[in-house]
Parts: sequence; C-alpha cells; structure tokens
Amino acid sequence: MTRVALRTCLGCRQAKAKVSLVRLTRDAGGVVHADARGTAPGRGAYLCADPACLDRVVKGGRFAHAFRKPCSAGAALAEEVRELWQQRKSK
Ligand SMILES: [Zn+2]
Repeated sequence: MTRVALRTCLGCRQAKAKVSLVRLTRDAGGVVHADARGTAPGRGAYLCADPACLDRVVKGGRFAHAFRKPCSAGAALAEEVRELWQQRKSK
C-alpha cells in the first residue's frame, strides 16, 4: 500500500491528498498568502480546489485558528489561489 500524505482542507475540513491541495502560509506581518511552491517555512494551512472552500476561508476568518496567531488574508489571496489552480490545470 502506498502511503499518501493527507492534509485537511481549511474550508471543508476533509482530509485530502496533500498534492491536490494548495498550501497557504502566513508571513512575518501576519498576512496569509498562497504558497506556490509549497516550501515556505513555518506553519502551513491547506485548501482544496473547491471555490466554495476558498470563499469560506477568506470570508470566515479561519486563519487565526489554523495558524494559532493573529493573521489576515492578503488582499490578493483569492486571486493567488485561483492562479495556482489555473497553472496546475494547464500542466
Ligand atoms: Zn475544501
């Protein structure tokens, strides 16, 4: 059996394969960004491809809980995540 790394989507709370999720990170100023390469240091949160999840997370203020520190979504976060999905689809 192959072990697949699972991560929980912040939006729908479902555990999914890590490779199918977008990683989010919080920078030093407390602003959350999409982590395009999935390698930024520090604690990460994960989000699946469902636009509803993105919406829920951006509007619901779930980051502070996920990162255990005060933080807020970057102004361009939704756009960053959508761009990442587009890039993956086109590969
Ligand atoms: Zn989800």
